[in-house]
Amino acid sequence: MDLVVRSAKLRGRSELVDIGISDGVIAEISERIAQKAVKELNAEGNLITPSFVNPHEHLDTAMISESTRPNMSGTLFEGIEILREAKKKYTVEDVKKVAVNAIHMLVENGTTIIRSHANVDSVTQLNSINGLVEARKECKDLVTLQIVALPQEGLIRDQSTAELMRKSMEAGADIVGGIPAYENTEEDSKKHIDIVFDIAKEFGAGIDMHVDENDDPNSRNLQYFATKSIKEHIANATASHACALASYDDSYAAKVIGLVKEAKMSVIANPCTNLMLQGRFDKQPIRRGLTRVKELNTVGVNVACGQDGINDTFDPLSGKCDMLQIAWIMGHAAQLSTPSEVDLLLDMITKNAAKALGIKRFGLDVGNEANLNIIDAKDVYQAIRMQSDRLYVIRLGNVVAGTKMNSNNGF
Ligand SMILES: [Zn+2]
Repeated sequence: MDLVVRSAKLRGRSELVDIGISDGVIAEISERIAQKAVKELNAEGNLITPSFVNPHEHLDTAMISESTRPNMSGTLFEGIEILREAKKKYTVEDVKKVAVNAIHMLVENGTTIIRSHANVDSVTQLNSINGLVEARKECKDLVTLQIVALPQEGLIRDQSTAELMRKSMEAGADIVGGIPAYENTEEDSKKHIDIVFDIAKEFGAGIDMHVDENDDPNSRNLQYFATKSIKEHIANATASHACALASYDDSYAAKVIGLVKEAKMSVIANPCTNLMLQGRFDKQPIRRGLTRVKELNTVGVNVACGQDGINDTFDPLSGKCDMLQIAWIMGHAAQLSTPSEVDLLLDMITKNAAKALGIKRFGLDVGNEANLNIIDAKDVYQAIRMQSDRLYVIRLGNVVAGTKMNSNNGF
C-alpha cells in the first residue's frame, strides 16, 4: 500500500479504523491493517471526512470588489451592473491569476472538487472561460474543476451570447449555465431556458442554471426548468439558488418541489450570498432568501450548498474558501441543528455536492478515489462549529495541503 491512515474516526462508527490507500484508491478500511505502507499517517482519533466539494463558485470574479465601487442597494441586479464595468477590463491572465489563488485557498481548506461558473457575454467574450481553462491546467494536480458557461447578461437581452456559449463549450466549458430571471419578460425567460437546453443537447453537456435568484413569488422558472427536464429526459440537471421557492405559497411550492423530484434534479443553495442579497426590498420581516432546504431534502431531492462568490460585487464579505464555514452558515440559515440535520450539512458539502456534479467513486468506501480530509475534531458537530483545522488534505492518495502537511508525522 502507498499510504495508511491509522486511528481514523469515521462518522457513524464508534471504533477507530485504519484506511489503506493504493494507487490513489481506498483499498481497505478495517480496525487494523497489518500491512506496513510506504507512508503512514496517524490520525490520532480525529475525524476523517471525504474531500469537500464546492458545487457553486465564481472563480473568475474572485476579489473583484477590491477594484469596484460598492454595491449600495445590495441587490443582485446592482451587482451585475457594477460587474459589467469591471468585466470590460479583465483579461485572461487576470482571471487565471485570481482563480488560481482562490483554488489554492479552497484546497488549503480541504476542497478538491469545484464547480465554477464563468461569465460569458458580449462584454467578457471568452476571457473568463479561457482564464479558468488555464487555471484548471495549472492546478490539475490539486483539484477537479468543472466549468459552467454562464450567460450573465442574458441570452435574449444580450443577443450575441448564444453563439459565445457554443464557443465556450468548444473552448473547454463542461456545463451549460443560465440565468433566466435576468431576462425582461416571462416569455423571454422561457426562451432563455430553451436556448440553454438546445446548447446542452448539442454538446451532450449537463445544465446548471441560476434559477429564480429573487424573492418574487411570481418568478416561475424552476417549474418550467423541471418540467422541461422531465419531458426531455435530461439527467441530473441542477438548479442553483432557487430562492423564490421560499416565497411561493405552500401549495404551489409543493407542486414545484414534486416536479423537481420527478426530474431528479439537484438544488444548490448558497447561503452566504442569498442571505446578503435577498429580502432587500422587505421592510420587516426580512426574508432569508434561502430555498426550501428541509422540504426538498425530506422528499428526497438532492440538496447541496456552495460558497458562490469570493469578495465579489454581490457579497464582499464572502470568500474564506472554507466549506466548513459555509456549512456553519447553512446550519444557521436553514435551521439545521439535530444530529441528522448536522449530518445533512456535511453531506451538502461532500456527497450531495459530488452527486450534483456527477462525480463518481466519491466517499469513504473501498474502491473509491482516495480524496479525504483529516480534521482536528472529534465529530461533525465540532468540525462545523469550530471550523477545525484541516490537518491533512489528501487527494488521490497524495497529501496536497493541511496544517500538518510539512510535519513528519508517520513519514
Ligand atoms: Zn452563482
